[in-house]
Amino acid sequence: MKKSKIIPLILISMIICGTAFSQSAKTTAKIKALIIDGQNNHEQWPKLTYILKKEMEVTGLFSVDVARSAYTWEGDGYLEEFAIEGMPETQALDEPKADPDFSPNFSKYDVIINNFGWNAAPWPEKTQKKLEKYMKKGGGLVVFHAADNSFPKWEAYNQMIGLGGWGDRTEKDGPHVYYNDVGELIRDDSPGNAGAHGPQSEYQIQIRNGEHPITKGMPLKWMHTKDELYNSLRGPAENMDILATAYSDPENKGTGYHEPALMALTYGKGRIFHNIMGHADYSVLGVGFLTTMLRGAEWAATGEVTQDLPDDFPTADKSSSREFEKE
Ligand code: ZN
Repeated sequence: MKKSKIIPLILISMIICGTAFSQSAKTTAKIKALIIDGQNNHEQWPKLTYILKKEMEVTGLFSVDVARSAYTWEGDGYLEEFAIEGMPETQALDEPKADPDFSPNFSKYDVIINNFGWNAAPWPEKTQKKLEKYMKKGGGLVVFHAADNSFPKWEAYNQMIGLGGWGDRTEKDGPHVYYNDVGELIRDDSPGNAGAHGPQSEYQIQIRNGEHPITKGMPLKWMHTKDELYNSLRGPAENMDILATAYSDPENKGTGYHEPALMALTYGKGRIFHNIMGHADYSVLGVGFLTTMLRGAEWAATGEVTQDLPDDFPTADKSSSREFEKE
C-alpha cells in the first residue's frame, strides 16, 4: 500500500518541477523590441519613446532598444531630457531630412515599434526593402498615432498599416473604412482626403473583435484618456481585422461614423498592430492605450498574448491614467 502511494507522488512532483522549469525558461527569454524614431511632427516624440521603452521593460517581457535617425526633427525640447542611454548623438534640424545611413538591423528583433510621424523624410530604399523582407518572413510591427501619417508614397508600408492619413493620401490610396450606426462595415471609395481629427477629448473605445489575443477579456466599451481621434483614414485595408472603433462625433468635428481605432494586420508572414491613439504624454499614459500597446507588441512578436488586464483598466465611462516619473 505504502509503496504504491509514494511512486505516484514522485511522478507528480517530477511533472510539477518540469512545468515550473519550462515556465521560468519561457519568462527569461525576453521579446527583443526595437523602437524606431527621429522625425515626427509631435514635439513630445522623444518622451513618448522614453515612456514606451520604460513601460515595456517594466513588464519583464521585453528588452527594448532604440534606433534613431541621425537627423532629428521636432522634439527639440525633449531630446535632451529624455535621452536614451548609449545612443549616438543626433543632429537636430528645423525640417525633416533623409538620413542616408538609417538602416536598423530589423532581423535582430522580434518586433519593431514605429514612432516616426507626419512628414518624416523617406528612408533609404534599401532600408525600406529590408523592412519589407523582414515583415514578409514573419517579423512584427507596431504602428501608433502619427506613424500612420508617414511614408505616403511607400506602397508596401501602406499595405502594412492598412489605413493611413494626410501626406496627400486620397481615394487613390484606398477606401475610407468605417462602421456605420447599424454595425455594417463600409468601404467608401468616394473621393476625399484621408486623415482628419477634431479637438482633443476623451473618447470611448468600442471593441469589435473581443476574441483577438490583444482585446480578449477587455470590457466591450472603455474610456480612453484625452487624445486626438483620427477619422477618414484611407488605404488598401487588406488582411486587416478591425479590433476596435471609436465614434467620431459630428459635434466634435467628426464624421458621425465609428472609425477604426485598433487594427491587427498581416503582411506576408508578418503581423502588424495599428493603434490610432497616442498623441501626447497624457494620451500614452492612459491605461487603455498602454495595455493595447503592450499586448499589441507581444502579439506582433509572437502571435500570442500572455498579459492579464491590469486592475486599473478603464471602465465604459471612466478613463484611467498612470503616473510617470523619470528616474
Ligand atoms: Zn497627434
